[in-house]
Amino acid sequence: AKEAGRDQLVSFDPTLREKRLEAARTTERLRRAIVRDELIVHFQPLIRLADERITGVEALIRWQPPGQRMVPPDKFIGVAEDSGLIVPIGAWVLRESCRVVAAWHREHGTVVSVNVSPRQLREPDFAATVLDALRGSGLPPVALILEITEGVLVDSGAVTEQAIGHLSMLRAHGVRVAVDDFGTGYSSLAYLRDLPIDHIKIDRSFMPAPGDTDPAARTLVKAIIDLASGLRLGTIAEGVETAEQVALLRDLGCQRAQGFYYSRPVPADDAARLILESSTV
Ligand code: C2E
Ligand code: CA
Ligand code: CA
Ligand code: CA
Repeated sequence: AKEAGRDQLVSFDPTLREKRLEAARTTERLRRAIVRDELIVHFQPLIRLADERITGVEALIRWQPPGQRMVPPDKFIGVAEDSGLIVPIGAWVLRESCRVVAAWHREHGTVVSVNVSPRQLREPDFAATVLDALRGSGLPPVALILEITEGVLVDSGAVTEQAIGHLSMLRAHGVRVAVDDFGTGYSSLAYLRDLPIDHIKIDRSFMPAPGDTDPAARTLVKAIIDLASGLRLGTIAEGVETAEQVALLRDLGCQRAQGFYYSRPVPADDAARLILESSTV
């Protein structure tokens, strides 16, 4: 009775009710989108700053309903997480990314980063799903990077054992782990030393804005890069949009960069072309 009472209260709030209906509609459309093959993966190059060659790509999901505008992930990943649809969607992204990049890896040594949502890491068979995707595609485990957020490893101060179990197991096979959006999660830094990770991706909010001469911006980026290097973690700067940012990152010893300055996320055919050009210059 208590439950029903609470539900009723919620239903009488018109905005909340609207939001729930909207989420339910999106869930239904998304369920159909999976069956109808409307999901696609775009790839954004990751550039090694030492020689400005493409060494990898990040797989970024898109939803292309026929005859409509492409739906960006921010509009449906949240709904997919709440409904659990992120589990089959995430497994598909893994298979598709491994399949596409296997050929690029054979030719050019390209590696692929795939985003993994916290919900996926709560599945008991997550590690098996990843290994199946690798075996099915022929992509070697060392060519796969899983991008996770800090919250996956540390949840309100406590280490999340199941996620760490999956990631440790996969790392034993050679798969690499990157902490995405580093610096935005407010968790303690101790986990950087103790947990199964290989790279950090410096969130784009740390990139100094064009014309920003405030030394504080540089200080923050430098501190993150020094911290990561000291712990022997790889560094990837996200959201790099200008030549000034590239110069700064080089100067500070950041290893890789990703952002509109080099390329937007593009369909697989375009990414293949960019990788080929990058390997022949
Ligand atoms: P993210 O993992 O932080 O991905 C980077 C986002 O920044 C991408 O947005 C990319 O298009 C955008 N970006 C790249 N370079 C620049 C730049 O220079 N400037 C600016 N302003 N933005 C840049 P996108 O593709 O819309 O993806 C948004 C988020 O959706 C991702 O953030 C990720 O959290 C999530 N996402 C995307 N694909 C997947 C997926 O397959 N699975 C899961 N679980 N999440 C995904
Ligand atoms: Ca990411
Ligand atoms: Ca990110
Ligand atoms: Ca993000």
